[in-house]
Amino acid sequence: MEKGDKLYGIFKFKCPHCHEGEFYVDRDPYHLSTAGELLDHCSVCKRKYEPEPGFYYGGMYVTYALAVATFATTYLAMMLIFPNAPLWLDALIVIIALVVLAPYYYALSKTIWAALFIPYKGVAITEREREQAAARAALREGN
Ligand SMILES: [Zn+2]
Repeated sequence: MEKGDKLYGIFKFKCPHCHEGEFYVDRDPYHLSTAGELLDHCSVCKRKYEPEPGFYYGGMYVTYALAVATFATTYLAMMLIFPNAPLWLDALIVIIALVVLAPYYYALSKTIWAALFIPYKGVAITEREREQAAARAALREGN
């Protein structure tokens, strides 16, 4: 995993635009008081993290997918390792796995959601961003 690779930004909790700046107020998702709290913008490239209000609600779909995957893997592992374990024990292990991983998945869901919709651009302003800024400025002067 290196910078520019989507997985790098996702698992290192870095800015989706440049993979340099921090994404979260606190990078440890198990500090529950600040869990999932995003910074407003990247400290390195200065781009904003929220393209539109409510953008990160979509992360719920990612959390759901991660939880289903965990449920299936944990349950299958229990079936293979302890085939004679009672169903309540399988259920308990699955629930414990989900509870323990919940803060991490919450943090991961937002970086995955961001990586799906925000392309990597590097630290410097791209030609396209320069053109868009110029177009916005021209629009403002026109009104
Ligand atoms: Zn950045």
